[in-house]
Order: sequence, then C-alpha cells, then structure tokens
Amino acid sequence: MEGFKSGFIAIIGRPNVGKSTLLNNIVGEKVAIVSEKPQTTRNQIRGVANGEGWQMIFIDTPGLHVPKNRLGNFMVESAKKALDGVDAVLVILDATKDFGTGDRVSLEAAAGAGVPVVAVLNKVDLVKKAILLDKINLLSKNQSIGEIIPVSALTGDGVQDLVQSLIQYLPEGPEYFPADMYTDQPEMFIAAEMIREKGLLLLRDEIPHGIGVEMLKIEEKPSGTVEIHANIICEKDSHKAIIIGRRGEMLKNLGTMARQDIQALLGAKVNLQLWVRVKPGWRDSTMLLKDLGYREEL
Ligand code: GDP
Ligand code: MG
Repeated sequence: MEGFKSGFIAIIGRPNVGKSTLLNNIVGEKVAIVSEKPQTTRNQIRGVANGEGWQMIFIDTPGLHVPKNRLGNFMVESAKKALDGVDAVLVILDATKDFGTGDRVSLEAAAGAGVPVVAVLNKVDLVKKAILLDKINLLSKNQSIGEIIPVSALTGDGVQDLVQSLIQYLPEGPEYFPADMYTDQPEMFIAAEMIREKGLLLLRDEIPHGIGVEMLKIEEKPSGTVEIHANIICEKDSHKAIIIGRRGEMLKNLGTMARQDIQALLGAKVNLQLWVRVKPGWRDSTMLLKDLGYREEL
C-alpha cells in the first residue's frame, strides 16, 4: 500500500514494571488480533495497534527473561537474536523503583538490537514530580536511549504521546493484519508476507505483478523447529519456470531468504517447504484469505 507504515516493536523490561498493562492500554479496544491459544513460537505477537496509515505489531520476547545467573554476554547475545528484525524496542521501567540489574540488562539488550530504543518510564501516577525528573535526568545520560517517555499505563496518561512518537520508527510496509479481522494464527500472516516480499525482491523484473502465497501448514515440532509449507501462486506456466529457475536455483534462494527472515521474527528454527502452483486469475480471488482462516468481525 502506497505510503503505509508498519513495523514490529518489542516490549521488554523486568517483571512487574507494567508491560502487560501498557500493552492493554495501547491496543485497548482495538485488539484486532491477539492469540487466544498459547503460541508456538518464542517471539510472541501480543497485539496489533492500527491507526490512520500505520500498523504496529507488538511482540514480547520471552527469550529475554533468563535467570539472573545467566546474565552477561550470553544474555546480550541471545537478546540480539530475539530482537532481530524489530523496528524499535521499548524498555519499560518502573518509576517507583530504583533502577536495578534487570533494568540495566534490558537496556543493554535493547542497545544491542541496533534499532531505536525508547525508555518508557511507567507508573508516573505514583511518584512525585521531583523524583520523576531525577529519573529522567539519570536516563538521559544513557547514550543508547533515543527517547524517554513518562507514562502511566494504568491511567493512560502519556500513552497516546508514546504511540504518536512510535509512528516515526515504522518503515514503509504492508498492512500485515487486516485491521478489522481476527485470526488466531498471526505467524501465518508473517510467514506469508515474508515469502511474498522475497518473491517481489527476486522476481520483480520478470514477474511484474508478483506472486501469491498460499499457506498450507505451520506446525511446531517437538524439537522446537517450526515446519512451514506454502504454495507460491503464479499466473502461467512460463512464470512457474522462472520462479523455479535453472536447476531450482531461484526457488532455493527465495526459500533461504524467506526462511532467514521468518526465523528471526519467530525466534525459532524454521523448516520452510515451498511449491509453485499455477492458478490463473488468483489475484481476483478471495480464496487465499479464506484459506488462511480469516473470519470477518461479527
Ligand atoms: P508486567 O509483569 O511487566 O507485565 O507488569 P504488569 O502489567 O502485570 O503490572 C504489574 C503491576 O503494576 C500490576 O499490579 C499493575 O496494575 C501495576 N501497574 C502497571 N502499570 C501501572 C501504572 O502506570 N500505575 C500504577 N499505579 N500501577 C501500575
Ligand atoms: Mg506481564
């Protein structure tokens, strides 16, 4: 969509700082998509916020919640992986508490992600102004923090300012999730979108109208590997030959690139199997959406 902005925002912070409360407040009534079922993959999509011309997908990275004795380099390394692919990181801090090890580790992990870091100073409804200013002052010395935003996730104070500010970090991108539809399998959409995007990138010159992607299966194996099967849909046999490429090179490249992105986003090892199918006129059909299990909001 021309000019549309969308992206992934990680929310991190030690327990009880108010991550869940904040997310509920941001996503609020507009919980377009939240999984009812426990999700299979490690990076969890917690909610999607939609606005005029933009979409934010908030993810939680449970990989960051490792026990204290495993902090340090290992922690920062694994956090980097968990945060790979996000467009910004929110580090939630509790304004009523002294900053501790957990906060420091969250900030280090965020800094390691190499994307903008926003420090959210939460629970401002409970602290005196002078104390709040002290904390802001302290945080402003931290070079890795791009922005400090005081909020009360409970009362909603400052939350809209936070959301407005986050829009600037969203790159141009698709509407990953239809704003008015529900699904319990957000991973499906992410995977389909990544495959489609690589197809666009690799085949732009030869197949100007792009490809369709039909998700057949997404399943987590006991080993933790996520198995994904998908069809790449095109209009004609000649397109199919191009997509497969000489000795299957093109399809292999596309699959490798898409798999790397999906892995980064899901935080799990992915086994991606792709097939190419010819379905003339697929673009006019709503079949793909239905197959993905969309249902319209009642
Ligand atoms: P999480 O563990 O980071 O997800 O933290 P929660 O969202 O579960 O919040 C922990 C506790 O802090 C809960 O009792 C919340 O009601 C409370 N809390 C969260 N945000 C605020 C806030 O802005 N002000 C106040 N007074 N309490 C808050
Ligand atoms: Mg929570």
